[in-house]
Amino acid sequence: MEIDETPSSAASRLAPIEEVKSTTKQSKRIAAHSHVKGLGLNQETKEALDKAAGFIGQTAARNSASVIVDLIRMKSMAGRAVLLAGPPGTGKTAIALAMSQELGDGVPFVPLVASEVFSSEVKKTEILMRNFRRAIGLRVKETKDVYEGEVTELNPIETANSQSSGIGKTISHLVLSLKTAKGSKQLKLDPSIYDSILKQRIEIGDVIYIEANSGIVKRVGRCDVYASEFDLEADEFVPLPKGDVRKSKDIVQDVTLHDLDLANARPQGRQGDVSSIVSQLMAPKKTEVTDRLRSEINKVVNEYIESGVAELMPGVLFIDEVHMLDAECFTYLHRSLESSISPIVVFATNRGNSTVRGLDIKSAHGIPPEMLDRLMIIPTLKYTPDEMREILALRSEAENVKFDKDALNFMTQVATERSLRYALQIIAPARLSAQCSGRDVINTSDVQRCVDLFMDRSESLKKARLTQQQFSK
Ligand code: ATP
Repeated sequence: MEIDETPSSAASRLAPIEEVKSTTKQSKRIAAHSHVKGLGLNQETKEALDKAAGFIGQTAARNSASVIVDLIRMKSMAGRAVLLAGPPGTGKTAIALAMSQELGDGVPFVPLVASEVFSSEVKKTEILMRNFRRAIGLRVKETKDVYEGEVTELNPIETANSQSSGIGKTISHLVLSLKTAKGSKQLKLDPSIYDSILKQRIEIGDVIYIEANSGIVKRVGRCDVYASEFDLEADEFVPLPKGDVRKSKDIVQDVTLHDLDLANARPQGRQGDVSSIVSQLMAPKKTEVTDRLRSEINKVVNEYIESGVAELMPGVLFIDEVHMLDAECFTYLHRSLESSISPIVVFATNRGNSTVRGLDIKSAHGIPPEMLDRLMIIPTLKYTPDEMREILALRSEAENVKFDKDALNFMTQVATERSLRYALQIIAPARLSAQCSGRDVINTSDVQRCVDLFMDRSESLKKARLTQQQFSK
Protein backbone atom coordinates (compact mmCIF):
# COMPACT_ATOMS: atom_id res chain seq x y z
CA MET A 1 0.00 0.00 0.00
CA GLU A 2 2.80 2.36 -0.85
CA ILE A 3 2.15 5.74 -2.43
CA ASP A 4 4.65 6.17 -5.24
CA GLU A 5 7.36 8.55 -4.16
CA THR A 6 8.03 9.77 -7.70
CA PRO A 7 4.78 10.21 -9.55
CA SER A 8 4.97 10.47 -13.31
CA SER A 9 3.23 12.99 -15.48
CA ALA A 10 -0.01 12.80 -13.55
CA ALA A 11 0.60 16.33 -12.22
CA SER A 12 -0.56 17.59 -15.58
CA ARG A 13 -3.88 15.94 -14.94
CA LEU A 14 -4.46 17.94 -11.79
CA ALA A 15 -7.80 19.65 -12.01
CA PRO A 16 -9.65 22.07 -9.72
CA ILE A 17 -11.17 20.29 -6.80
CA GLU A 18 -14.91 20.35 -6.66
CA GLU A 19 -16.90 20.23 -3.47
CA VAL A 20 -16.48 16.87 -1.86
CA LYS A 21 -18.79 14.97 0.43
CA SER A 22 -17.19 12.60 2.89
CA THR A 23 -18.91 9.27 3.38
CA THR A 24 -17.50 8.91 6.89
CA LYS A 25 -20.30 8.15 9.31
CA GLN A 26 -20.50 8.37 13.09
CA SER A 27 -20.87 4.77 14.17
CA LYS A 28 -22.96 3.61 17.12
CA ARG A 29 -19.78 2.26 18.65
CA ILE A 30 -18.42 5.81 18.84
CA ALA A 31 -21.72 7.20 20.20
CA ALA A 32 -21.09 5.32 23.47
CA HIS A 33 -18.13 7.65 23.98
CA SER A 34 -19.81 10.92 23.00
CA HIS A 35 -18.77 12.42 26.37
CA VAL A 36 -15.07 11.87 25.54
CA LYS A 37 -13.46 14.95 23.99
CA GLY A 38 -9.74 14.19 24.22
CA LEU A 39 -7.23 12.72 26.66
CA GLY A 40 -7.91 15.48 29.19
CA LEU A 41 -4.34 16.78 29.50
CA ASN A 42 -3.01 19.80 31.33
CA GLN A 43 -2.09 22.10 28.44
CA GLU A 44 1.24 23.09 29.96
CA THR A 45 2.56 19.97 31.65
CA LYS A 46 0.82 17.56 29.22
CA GLU A 47 -0.04 15.41 32.26
CA ALA A 48 -3.46 13.74 32.38
CA LEU A 49 -5.86 15.57 34.71
CA ASP A 50 -7.92 13.36 37.02
CA LYS A 51 -11.19 14.66 35.58
CA ALA A 52 -11.11 16.34 32.18
CA ALA A 53 -12.43 16.11 28.62
CA GLY A 54 -15.01 13.53 29.73
CA PHE A 55 -12.42 11.26 31.36
CA ILE A 56 -12.39 10.15 34.97
CA GLY A 57 -9.20 8.56 36.37
CA GLN A 58 -7.16 6.00 34.36
CA THR A 59 -4.48 8.70 34.42
CA ALA A 60 -1.44 6.43 33.97
CA ALA A 61 -2.87 4.97 30.75
CA ARG A 62 -3.87 8.43 29.50
CA ASN A 63 -0.33 9.69 30.19
CA SER A 64 1.12 6.82 28.17
CA ALA A 65 -1.37 7.52 25.38
CA SER A 66 -0.33 11.17 25.41
CA VAL A 67 3.33 10.17 24.87
CA ILE A 68 2.23 8.03 21.91
CA VAL A 69 0.35 11.00 20.45
CA ASP A 70 3.56 13.04 20.69
CA LEU A 71 5.51 10.25 18.97
CA ILE A 72 2.92 10.18 16.17
CA ARG A 73 3.23 13.95 15.77
CA MET A 74 7.01 13.55 15.58
CA LYS A 75 6.48 10.79 13.00
CA SER A 76 8.37 8.36 15.24
CA MET A 77 5.81 5.58 15.38
CA ALA A 78 6.56 4.04 11.98
CA GLY A 79 6.53 0.25 12.10
CA ARG A 80 5.09 0.21 15.60
CA ALA A 81 1.62 -0.22 17.05
CA VAL A 82 -0.09 0.21 20.42
CA LEU A 83 -1.78 -2.39 22.61
CA LEU A 84 -4.27 -1.38 25.30
CA ALA A 85 -4.55 -4.31 27.68
CA GLY A 86 -7.02 -4.43 30.54
CA PRO A 87 -10.32 -5.77 31.86
CA PRO A 88 -13.60 -5.06 29.99
CA GLY A 89 -15.04 -1.57 30.37
CA THR A 90 -11.79 0.06 31.53
CA GLY A 91 -11.82 2.67 28.78
CA LYS A 92 -9.61 1.09 26.11
CA THR A 93 -11.88 2.18 23.24
CA ALA A 94 -12.38 5.57 24.88
CA ILE A 95 -8.61 6.12 25.11
CA ALA A 96 -8.03 5.11 21.47
CA LEU A 97 -10.77 7.51 20.37
CA ALA A 98 -9.28 10.27 22.52
CA MET A 99 -5.89 9.72 20.86
CA SER A 100 -7.44 10.40 17.45
CA GLN A 101 -9.14 13.51 18.87
CA GLU A 102 -5.80 14.75 20.22
CA LEU A 103 -4.30 14.35 16.74
CA GLY A 104 -6.69 16.99 15.44
CA ASP A 105 -10.12 17.69 14.02
CA GLY A 106 -11.11 15.47 11.15
CA VAL A 107 -8.53 12.77 11.98
CA PRO A 108 -10.31 9.46 11.32
CA PHE A 109 -11.08 6.97 14.09
CA VAL A 110 -11.99 3.54 12.77
CA PRO A 111 -13.12 0.96 15.32
CA LEU A 112 -13.05 -2.66 14.24
CA VAL A 113 -13.69 -5.86 16.17
CA ALA A 114 -11.16 -8.47 15.06
CA SER A 115 -13.89 -11.03 14.37
CA GLU A 116 -15.33 -8.70 11.68
CA VAL A 117 -12.32 -9.59 9.56
CA PHE A 118 -13.67 -13.09 8.94
CA SER A 119 -16.28 -13.25 6.23
CA SER A 120 -17.30 -15.97 3.83
CA GLU A 121 -17.41 -13.48 0.93
CA VAL A 122 -14.46 -11.14 1.34
CA LYS A 123 -10.82 -12.04 2.00
CA LYS A 124 -9.63 -11.07 5.47
CA THR A 125 -6.68 -9.12 4.07
CA GLU A 126 -9.12 -7.15 1.88
CA ILE A 127 -11.21 -6.26 4.94
CA LEU A 128 -8.06 -5.18 6.79
CA MET A 129 -6.92 -3.12 3.77
CA ARG A 130 -10.33 -1.39 3.53
CA ASN A 131 -10.17 -0.43 7.16
CA PHE A 132 -6.58 0.73 6.84
CA ARG A 133 -7.69 3.08 4.07
CA ARG A 134 -10.73 4.21 6.08
CA ALA A 135 -8.28 5.29 8.77
CA ILE A 136 -6.19 7.46 6.43
CA GLY A 137 -7.69 10.89 6.03
CA LEU A 138 -6.99 13.40 3.32
CA ARG A 139 -7.67 17.10 3.82
CA VAL A 140 -8.22 18.71 0.45
CA LYS A 141 -7.83 22.49 0.35
CA GLU A 142 -8.55 24.87 -2.44
CA THR A 143 -8.97 28.59 -2.68
CA LYS A 144 -11.53 29.75 -5.19
CA ASP A 145 -12.07 33.20 -6.61
CA VAL A 146 -15.62 34.40 -6.58
CA TYR A 147 -16.75 36.98 -9.17
CA GLU A 148 -19.68 39.32 -8.70
CA GLY A 149 -21.66 41.46 -11.14
CA GLU A 150 -25.08 42.60 -12.35
CA VAL A 151 -26.71 40.57 -15.11
CA THR A 152 -27.17 42.72 -18.24
CA GLU A 153 -27.81 39.98 -20.76
CA LEU A 154 -29.02 36.44 -20.34
CA ASN A 155 -29.30 34.68 -23.60
CA PRO A 156 -29.64 30.94 -24.18
CA ILE A 157 -28.34 30.15 -27.68
CA GLU A 158 -30.31 27.39 -29.34
CA THR A 159 -29.21 25.14 -32.17
CA ALA A 160 -31.33 22.77 -34.23
CA ASN A 161 -31.00 19.25 -32.96
CA SER A 162 -29.80 17.27 -35.96
CA GLN A 163 -30.66 13.96 -34.36
CA SER A 164 -34.34 14.77 -34.08
CA SER A 165 -35.05 15.54 -37.75
CA GLY A 166 -34.61 19.25 -37.25
CA ILE A 167 -37.72 19.52 -35.07
CA GLY A 168 -36.14 19.68 -31.63
CA LYS A 169 -33.79 22.36 -30.45
CA THR A 170 -31.10 22.19 -27.83
CA ILE A 171 -29.26 24.92 -26.02
CA SER A 172 -25.67 24.95 -27.18
CA HIS A 173 -24.49 27.53 -24.69
CA LEU A 174 -25.57 30.47 -22.65
CA VAL A 175 -24.43 34.04 -23.05
CA LEU A 176 -24.36 35.88 -19.79
CA SER A 177 -23.21 39.48 -19.56
CA LEU A 178 -22.19 40.89 -16.26
CA LYS A 179 -21.70 44.53 -15.36
CA THR A 180 -18.90 44.51 -12.87
CA ALA A 181 -17.03 47.15 -10.96
CA LYS A 182 -14.49 47.29 -13.81
CA GLY A 183 -16.86 47.30 -16.81
CA SER A 184 -18.82 44.69 -18.73
CA LYS A 185 -17.87 41.10 -19.34
CA GLN A 186 -19.55 38.55 -21.52
CA LEU A 187 -19.37 34.93 -20.48
CA LYS A 188 -20.09 31.97 -22.71
CA LEU A 189 -21.33 29.28 -20.39
CA ASP A 190 -22.08 25.60 -20.51
CA PRO A 191 -25.83 24.91 -21.07
CA SER A 192 -26.16 22.99 -17.83
CA ILE A 193 -26.02 26.31 -15.98
CA TYR A 194 -29.35 27.25 -17.58
CA ASP A 195 -31.23 24.98 -15.15
CA SER A 196 -29.57 26.62 -12.22
CA ILE A 197 -30.44 30.09 -13.53
CA LEU A 198 -34.06 29.12 -14.22
CA LYS A 199 -34.49 27.58 -10.80
CA GLN A 200 -33.18 30.68 -9.08
CA ARG A 201 -35.29 32.88 -11.39
CA ILE A 202 -32.24 35.01 -12.16
CA GLU A 203 -33.19 37.94 -14.40
CA ILE A 204 -31.62 41.01 -15.98
CA GLY A 205 -30.71 43.44 -13.24
CA ASP A 206 -30.02 40.78 -10.61
CA VAL A 207 -26.67 40.77 -8.91
CA ILE A 208 -25.13 37.32 -8.93
CA TYR A 209 -21.82 35.78 -8.13
CA ILE A 210 -19.98 32.94 -9.79
CA GLU A 211 -17.33 30.74 -8.28
CA ALA A 212 -14.55 30.38 -10.80
CA ASN A 213 -14.10 26.86 -12.10
CA SER A 214 -16.58 25.22 -9.75
CA GLY A 215 -19.50 26.61 -11.73
CA ILE A 216 -21.54 27.58 -8.74
CA VAL A 217 -23.82 30.50 -9.48
CA LYS A 218 -25.67 32.24 -6.68
CA ARG A 219 -27.97 35.19 -6.56
CA VAL A 220 -26.68 37.75 -4.09
CA GLY A 221 -28.87 38.88 -1.23
CA ARG A 222 -31.58 36.27 -1.61
CA CYS A 223 -32.10 33.34 0.67
CA ASP A 224 -33.63 30.89 -1.83
CA VAL A 225 -30.21 30.13 -3.21
CA TYR A 226 -29.86 27.12 -5.41
CA ALA A 227 -26.45 25.95 -6.46
CA SER A 228 -25.83 23.65 -9.33
CA GLU A 229 -22.53 22.30 -10.47
CA PHE A 230 -21.45 22.32 -14.07
CA ASP A 231 -18.32 22.21 -16.12
CA LEU A 232 -16.89 25.46 -17.35
CA GLU A 233 -14.46 24.81 -20.14
CA ALA A 234 -11.29 26.67 -19.29
CA ASP A 235 -11.13 28.58 -22.56
CA GLU A 236 -14.79 29.54 -22.46
CA PHE A 237 -14.64 31.07 -19.07
CA VAL A 238 -13.71 34.71 -19.29
CA PRO A 239 -12.29 35.77 -15.96
CA LEU A 240 -13.34 39.20 -14.84
CA PRO A 241 -10.61 41.77 -14.37
CA LYS A 242 -8.82 41.94 -11.07
CA GLY A 243 -10.74 43.95 -8.55
CA ASP A 244 -14.00 42.27 -9.38
CA VAL A 245 -13.17 39.41 -7.13
CA ARG A 246 -15.72 39.57 -4.39
CA LYS A 247 -13.90 37.22 -2.09
CA SER A 248 -11.65 34.22 -2.10
CA LYS A 249 -13.32 31.21 -0.66
CA ASP A 250 -11.38 28.46 1.09
CA ILE A 251 -12.87 25.06 0.53
CA VAL A 252 -11.66 22.42 2.94
CA GLN A 253 -12.92 18.91 2.64
CA ASP A 254 -11.98 15.84 4.66
CA VAL A 255 -12.21 12.47 2.93
CA THR A 256 -10.51 9.13 3.48
CA LEU A 257 -8.60 7.02 1.00
CA HIS A 258 -11.44 4.50 1.29
CA ASP A 259 -13.96 7.21 0.28
CA LEU A 260 -11.86 7.86 -2.81
CA ASP A 261 -11.61 4.13 -3.60
CA LEU A 262 -15.38 3.75 -3.45
CA ALA A 263 -16.05 6.95 -5.36
CA ASN A 264 -13.90 5.84 -8.19
CA ALA A 265 -15.04 2.23 -8.29
CA ARG A 266 -17.35 2.89 -11.20
CA PRO A 267 -17.30 1.37 -14.63
CA GLN A 268 -17.65 4.70 -16.46
CA GLY A 269 -16.29 8.20 -16.15
CA ARG A 270 -12.93 9.90 -16.20
CA GLN A 271 -10.31 8.56 -13.86
CA GLY A 272 -7.03 9.78 -12.66
CA ASP A 273 -7.37 13.14 -10.95
CA VAL A 274 -8.72 13.86 -7.53
CA SER A 275 -11.35 16.15 -8.98
CA SER A 276 -12.98 13.39 -10.96
CA ILE A 277 -12.52 10.91 -8.15
CA VAL A 278 -14.14 13.04 -5.51
CA SER A 279 -16.98 14.25 -7.70
CA GLN A 280 -18.12 10.66 -7.99
CA LEU A 281 -18.38 10.18 -4.25
CA MET A 282 -22.14 10.16 -4.23
CA ALA A 283 -22.49 7.97 -7.29
CA PRO A 284 -24.70 4.96 -6.56
CA LYS A 285 -23.26 2.51 -9.08
CA LYS A 286 -20.21 0.72 -7.77
CA THR A 287 -17.89 -2.01 -8.91
CA GLU A 288 -15.04 -3.72 -7.13
CA VAL A 289 -12.15 -1.73 -5.75
CA THR A 290 -9.06 -3.31 -7.27
CA ASP A 291 -5.41 -3.03 -6.25
CA ARG A 292 -4.77 -1.24 -9.52
CA LEU A 293 -7.41 1.37 -8.76
CA ARG A 294 -5.97 1.87 -5.30
CA SER A 295 -2.48 2.41 -6.61
CA GLU A 296 -3.81 4.86 -9.21
CA ILE A 297 -5.55 6.79 -6.45
CA ASN A 298 -2.40 6.70 -4.31
CA LYS A 299 -0.48 8.19 -7.21
CA VAL A 300 -2.86 11.09 -7.71
CA VAL A 301 -3.21 11.70 -3.98
CA ASN A 302 0.57 11.80 -3.76
CA GLU A 303 0.69 14.51 -6.41
CA TYR A 304 -1.90 16.55 -4.58
CA ILE A 305 0.14 16.27 -1.41
CA GLU A 306 3.29 17.33 -3.22
CA SER A 307 1.56 20.28 -4.85
CA GLY A 308 0.19 21.39 -1.48
CA VAL A 309 -3.47 20.96 -2.41
CA ALA A 310 -3.98 18.10 0.01
CA GLU A 311 -2.59 16.99 3.33
CA LEU A 312 -2.44 13.42 4.59
CA MET A 313 -3.99 12.86 8.03
CA PRO A 314 -3.19 9.37 9.31
CA GLY A 315 -5.88 8.40 11.81
CA VAL A 316 -6.38 5.62 14.34
CA LEU A 317 -7.38 2.09 13.38
CA PHE A 318 -8.66 0.49 16.58
CA ILE A 319 -8.78 -3.32 16.53
CA ASP A 320 -10.61 -4.72 19.55
CA GLU A 321 -10.44 -8.38 20.66
CA VAL A 322 -7.07 -8.71 18.96
CA HIS A 323 -6.75 -12.37 20.03
CA MET A 324 -9.40 -13.17 17.39
CA LEU A 325 -6.98 -12.31 14.54
CA ASP A 326 -5.04 -15.20 13.02
CA ALA A 327 -1.42 -15.61 11.93
CA GLU A 328 -2.18 -14.50 8.35
CA CYS A 329 -3.77 -11.26 9.56
CA PHE A 330 -0.80 -10.53 11.80
CA THR A 331 1.64 -11.09 8.92
CA TYR A 332 -0.39 -8.71 6.78
CA LEU A 333 -0.55 -6.09 9.54
CA HIS A 334 3.15 -6.46 10.19
CA ARG A 335 3.88 -5.55 6.58
CA SER A 336 1.30 -2.77 6.42
CA LEU A 337 2.71 -1.05 9.51
CA GLU A 338 5.90 -0.45 7.54
CA SER A 339 4.06 1.51 4.87
CA SER A 340 4.78 5.22 4.70
CA ILE A 341 1.06 5.96 4.87
CA SER A 342 0.00 3.59 7.63
CA PRO A 343 -2.54 4.83 10.15
CA ILE A 344 -1.70 4.36 13.81
CA VAL A 345 -2.90 0.89 14.76
CA VAL A 346 -4.21 0.47 18.31
CA PHE A 347 -5.05 -3.06 19.42
CA ALA A 348 -7.07 -3.87 22.51
CA THR A 349 -7.48 -7.01 24.53
CA ASN A 350 -8.89 -8.22 27.81
CA ARG A 351 -7.22 -11.64 27.48
CA GLY A 352 -4.08 -12.85 29.20
CA ASN A 353 -2.22 -15.80 27.70
CA SER A 354 -4.09 -17.21 24.70
CA THR A 355 -3.47 -19.44 21.74
CA VAL A 356 -2.49 -17.58 18.58
CA ARG A 357 -5.02 -18.59 15.92
CA GLY A 358 -3.36 -20.42 13.04
CA LEU A 359 -0.06 -20.91 14.86
CA ASP A 360 -1.25 -23.05 17.75
CA ILE A 361 1.27 -21.62 20.15
CA LYS A 362 0.42 -19.85 23.37
CA SER A 363 1.46 -16.25 23.59
CA ALA A 364 0.62 -13.13 25.60
CA HIS A 365 -2.85 -11.86 24.58
CA GLY A 366 -2.95 -14.33 21.68
CA ILE A 367 -0.52 -12.11 19.72
CA PRO A 368 2.49 -13.69 17.92
CA PRO A 369 5.86 -12.81 19.50
CA GLU A 370 7.08 -10.91 16.37
CA MET A 371 4.08 -8.59 16.62
CA LEU A 372 4.40 -8.27 20.41
CA ASP A 373 7.94 -6.98 19.84
CA ARG A 374 6.51 -4.07 17.85
CA LEU A 375 3.89 -3.07 20.40
CA MET A 376 3.93 -0.30 22.95
CA ILE A 377 1.73 -1.82 25.63
CA ILE A 378 -0.48 0.32 27.87
CA PRO A 379 -2.34 -1.37 30.74
CA THR A 380 -5.77 -0.13 31.84
CA LEU A 381 -6.92 -0.73 35.42
CA LYS A 382 -10.25 -1.44 37.10
CA TYR A 383 -12.10 1.57 38.47
CA THR A 384 -12.85 2.38 42.09
CA PRO A 385 -16.56 2.71 43.05
CA ASP A 386 -16.22 6.51 43.18
CA GLU A 387 -14.77 6.58 39.65
CA MET A 388 -17.59 4.36 38.43
CA ARG A 389 -20.17 6.70 40.00
CA GLU A 390 -18.63 9.63 38.16
CA ILE A 391 -18.49 7.77 34.85
CA LEU A 392 -22.15 6.76 35.28
CA ALA A 393 -23.06 10.38 36.03
CA LEU A 394 -21.16 11.55 32.92
CA ARG A 395 -22.83 8.97 30.70
CA SER A 396 -26.31 9.76 32.02
CA GLU A 397 -25.69 13.43 31.32
CA ALA A 398 -24.53 12.58 27.78
CA GLU A 399 -27.66 10.47 27.26
CA ASN A 400 -29.84 13.19 28.81
CA VAL A 401 -31.02 10.91 31.60
CA LYS A 402 -31.58 11.94 35.24
CA PHE A 403 -31.06 9.66 38.25
CA ASP A 404 -32.13 10.59 41.79
CA LYS A 405 -29.34 10.33 44.38
CA ASP A 406 -30.34 6.89 45.68
CA ALA A 407 -30.68 5.52 42.16
CA LEU A 408 -27.17 6.71 41.26
CA ASN A 409 -25.83 5.04 44.43
CA PHE A 410 -27.66 1.86 43.49
CA MET A 411 -26.25 2.03 39.94
CA THR A 412 -22.76 2.40 41.42
CA GLN A 413 -23.35 -0.67 43.56
CA VAL A 414 -24.55 -2.58 40.49
CA ALA A 415 -21.44 -1.48 38.55
CA THR A 416 -19.15 -2.59 41.39
CA GLU A 417 -20.83 -5.96 41.96
CA ARG A 418 -21.52 -6.82 38.33
CA SER A 419 -19.63 -4.62 35.89
CA LEU A 420 -19.43 -1.02 34.75
CA ARG A 421 -20.51 -2.07 31.28
CA TYR A 422 -23.61 -3.81 32.65
CA ALA A 423 -24.56 -0.70 34.62
CA LEU A 424 -24.03 1.49 31.52
CA GLN A 425 -26.22 -0.86 29.48
CA ILE A 426 -29.21 -0.48 31.81
CA ILE A 427 -29.27 3.33 31.72
CA ALA A 428 -31.56 3.35 28.67
CA PRO A 429 -34.03 0.67 29.91
CA ALA A 430 -34.13 2.39 33.35
CA ARG A 431 -35.15 5.60 31.61
CA LEU A 432 -37.88 3.70 29.80
CA SER A 433 -39.10 2.26 33.09
CA ALA A 434 -39.31 5.75 34.61
CA GLN A 435 -41.13 7.11 31.56
CA CYS A 436 -43.68 4.27 31.76
CA SER A 437 -44.43 5.39 35.31
CA GLY A 438 -44.81 9.00 34.15
CA ARG A 439 -41.51 10.19 35.65
CA ASP A 440 -38.53 12.04 34.19
CA VAL A 441 -36.17 11.07 36.97
CA ILE A 442 -35.01 7.48 37.44
CA ASN A 443 -35.41 6.07 40.96
CA THR A 444 -34.17 2.86 42.62
CA SER A 445 -37.27 0.90 41.61
CA ASP A 446 -36.44 1.52 37.92
CA VAL A 447 -32.88 0.27 38.44
CA GLN A 448 -34.13 -2.77 40.39
CA ARG A 449 -36.60 -3.53 37.61
CA CYS A 450 -33.78 -3.61 35.03
CA VAL A 451 -31.59 -5.74 37.28
CA ASP A 452 -34.49 -8.22 37.56
CA LEU A 453 -35.11 -8.14 33.83
CA PHE A 454 -31.55 -8.53 32.54
CA MET A 455 -28.76 -10.87 33.55
CA ASP A 456 -25.14 -9.83 33.55
CA ARG A 457 -22.39 -11.85 31.89
CA SER A 458 -21.38 -14.01 34.86
CA GLU A 459 -25.01 -14.64 35.89
CA SER A 460 -25.77 -15.78 32.37
CA LEU A 461 -22.69 -18.01 32.29
CA LYS A 462 -23.64 -19.60 35.63
CA LYS A 463 -27.15 -20.27 34.42
CA ALA A 464 -25.89 -21.70 31.12
CA ARG A 465 -23.63 -24.11 33.00
CA LEU A 466 -26.49 -25.29 35.20
CA THR A 467 -28.82 -25.83 32.27
CA GLN A 468 -26.18 -27.02 29.81
CA GLN A 469 -28.29 -29.83 28.42
CA GLN A 470 -31.07 -27.42 27.37
CA PHE A 471 -28.83 -25.48 24.99
CA SER A 472 -28.23 -26.74 21.47
CA LYS A 473 -24.75 -28.12 20.94
P1 ATP B 1 -14.15 -3.74 26.23
O1 ATP B 1 -12.91 -4.46 26.66
O2 ATP B 1 -15.38 -4.41 26.75
O3 ATP B 1 -14.20 -3.43 24.76
P2 ATP B 1 -13.23 -1.06 26.90
O4 ATP B 1 -12.08 -1.23 27.81
O5 ATP B 1 -12.96 -0.74 25.47
O6 ATP B 1 -14.20 -2.31 27.01
P3 ATP B 1 -14.85 1.29 26.85
O7 ATP B 1 -15.81 0.78 25.84
O8 ATP B 1 -13.88 2.31 26.41
O9 ATP B 1 -14.13 0.09 27.55
O10 ATP B 1 -15.64 1.89 28.13
C1 ATP B 1 -16.99 1.54 28.46
C2 ATP B 1 -17.79 2.83 28.65
O11 ATP B 1 -17.28 3.57 29.77
C3 ATP B 1 -17.74 3.77 27.48
O12 ATP B 1 -18.96 4.48 27.40
C4 ATP B 1 -16.60 4.72 27.87
O13 ATP B 1 -16.71 5.94 27.19
C5 ATP B 1 -16.79 4.82 29.36
N1 ATP B 1 -15.53 5.03 30.07
C6 ATP B 1 -14.59 4.09 30.27
N2 ATP B 1 -13.57 4.59 30.96
C7 ATP B 1 -13.86 5.88 31.20
C8 ATP B 1 -13.22 6.93 31.93
N3 ATP B 1 -12.03 6.73 32.50
N4 ATP B 1 -13.81 8.11 31.99
C9 ATP B 1 -15.00 8.31 31.40
N5 ATP B 1 -15.68 7.37 30.72
C10 ATP B 1 -15.13 6.17 30.63
